[in-house]
Amino acid sequence: MFQDKVLICAECGKEFIWTADEQEFYAEKGFQNEPKRCPECRRARKAQRNGAQNGERVMYDAVCARCGKPCKVPFKPSGDRPVYCSECFAEIQAERH
Ligand SMILES: [Zn+2]
Ligand SMILES: [Zn+2]
Repeated sequence: MFQDKVLICAECGKEFIWTADEQEFYAEKGFQNEPKRCPECRRARKAQRNGAQNGERVMYDAVCARCGKPCKVPFKPSGDRPVYCSECFAEIQAERH
């Protein structure tokens, strides 16, 4: 059966354990290759890749153009249009209707 195996992460160079459970999972899925990255790096890459799709969006620091409060926005503030915190954004939306 499978035994825990120590692998070296190709990304951060740290050793990590490829557990017997994971090896079994890989075998079941028919994957031929050993994982190249440690779970942390794998998670980070995955998060980066589907950042925009799975609701766990990358948030950028910004300053609200209306109330001046620091806030986070789901896009990179480009400077050519104002950024609002969620409260101000909601108020602005409400005012428009
Ligand atoms: Zn790593
Ligand atoms: Zn605001």
